Amino acid sequence: MSQPMAAVALSAPETANPLYASSLAALDQAAKALQLDPGVWQILRHAKRELTVHFPVRMDNGSIQVFSGYRIQHNVVRGPAKGGIRYHPAVDVDEVRALAMLMTWKCALVNIPYGGAKGGVACDPRALSLGELERLTRRYATEISIIIGPEYDIPAPDMGTNPQIMAWFMDTYSMHRGYSVTGVVTGKPVIIGGTAGRADATGKGCVIVAREAAKQMGIRLSGAKAVVQGFGNVGSSTARAFVAEGARVIAVSDGRGGIFRSEGLDIAGVLRHQRGAGTVVGFPGAESITNAELLELPCDLLVPAALENQITVDNARRVQARLIVEGANGPTTPDADRILQERHIVVVPDILANAGGVIVSYFEWVQDLQSYFWEEDEITRRLERILVRAFNDVIGASRQEQLDLRAAAYELAVSRVAEALVMRGIYP
Ligand code: NAD
Repeated sequence: MSQPMAAVALSAPETANPLYASSLAALDQAAKALQLDPGVWQILRHAKRELTVHFPVRMDNGSIQVFSGYRIQHNVVRGPAKGGIRYHPAVDVDEVRALAMLMTWKCALVNIPYGGAKGGVACDPRALSLGELERLTRRYATEISIIIGPEYDIPAPDMGTNPQIMAWFMDTYSMHRGYSVTGVVTGKPVIIGGTAGRADATGKGCVIVAREAAKQMGIRLSGAKAVVQGFGNVGSSTARAFVAEGARVIAVSDGRGGIFRSEGLDIAGVLRHQRGAGTVVGFPGAESITNAELLELPCDLLVPAALENQITVDNARRVQARLIVEGANGPTTPDADRILQERHIVVVPDILANAGGVIVSYFEWVQDLQSYFWEEDEITRRLERILVRAFNDVIGASRQEQLDLRAAAYELAVSRVAEALVMRGIYP
C-alpha cells in the first residue's frame, strides 16, 4: 500500500489496440473498486511471459513465406496457462495480450484451476491449402513448444483454428517428446484424446447463461426470438442450442453476410447449406441482410459470436435486443456498453457468456491426464453446474454492489486472482 495510485497509471502499458485498451480499463475499474494494492494491480496489468516468433513456411508453389506468431501467458498464479490459438490476418501482439488477460479472468470467474494465455498467427487460413496450413501449424507449434506443455500452458482452438489443427499440434509436440502427449492441447478430435461435448461446449454455455439471464428478466427461451452474428464454432453451436431450447433463431451471419427469416431459420438446414456453399448466404427461403442490419434487428436475444468491436457507439443506439450474450470475446466497446446500460439492455459479458469452451477444455485436460474418459451426459451436467454457479455468483455480486454484470464479473475474477497472488507472495 506504499505507492500512490497515480504511479500505476504512469507505468501502464500503452496501446492503440481498442480491445487491449478496453481490457486494461476494465481491470483498472475493478482494481479501483477493490482497492487493490498498487503493486498487485501493476502485476495484473502486465503479461507474465510473451513470445514472438517469425517463422518460414514452404508454400505449395515452392516459395518461402515468413509468418509472425505469438504465445502470451498473462498470469499463472491459479494454475497452468490456458487459452486458444487464433489464425486471422488481424492478429497482433496487443490483441493477443488482451485475449490472454481475458482468459485469466474467465478461468478465475468460473473457478477452474488455470491462468490465462492466448496465441495467434497473422495469416488468412482460408487462403492456405491444407498442406500449407499443416506446415504452418507444425512449425508454429515447434516454435512455441519451448513454453507449452500439459503442466505449463495448454492451447485450444479459437477463430480460424479447429480440431484438425489441434491434432497436428498435439502430434508435433508428441514427435519432439517421443511419446503421445494428449494433454498438451484441448479441442482435439475425440479419436486422439478429445472429449465428448467439446465442439458444442461454447455454444451450449452461451445458451445456459442466456437462459439464466432471461429467467431473471422474465423472458422464456421457448419461443424467444434470437439473432446470432458469426456462424463458426461458437455461432453455429449457439444457434443449435437455442433451437434445442425451443427458441426461434431468426437471423445468422458469417463474414460474407447474413440471412433472415421472421418465422425462424431451419438451423440444421443452414449448416448443411454452409458445408456445401462455404457460407450461410444464399440459404433458400431466407432474406439476405448485412451484418450491420443483423445487429439492429428487433429480437429478444442477440449473440455476437464473430469478432471483437462489433457493437460500438455507431450502432449501440439502434440495437433492439433486450438481452445481449457475448459469445465472442470483446464484441462490445466500453462506450457502447454505457449506451446499452442507459437503454436498459442487459449484457452478459464475454468472460461469463463464452466460458463453456474453456470449462469443457478443462474436462478434456483432466480426462487426458487420467486417461479415463467420461460420458457426454456427465460433461453436460458438470458444465451446467459450473456455469449456473458462476452466473449466480455474478448476479449476487451485481445486486450486492449495485453493478452491471460486466463490472460484477470483473470484480469477482480480479479479486480471486489477486487473492491467490497475495497468498503465494512475491518471489524471492
Ligand atoms: P470461427 O472461426 O469458428 O468462426 C468465426 C465466424 O465469424 C465465422 O462464421 C466467420 O465467417 C464469421 N465472421 C468473420 N468476420 C465476420 C464479420 N465481419 N461479421 C460477421 N461474421 C463474421 O471462430 P469461433 O471459434 O467461433 O470464435 C468466434 C469468437 O468466439 C471469437 O471472438 C473467439 O475468441 C470467441 N470464443 C471462441 C471459443 C471457442 O471455443 N472456439 C471460446 C470462447 C470464445
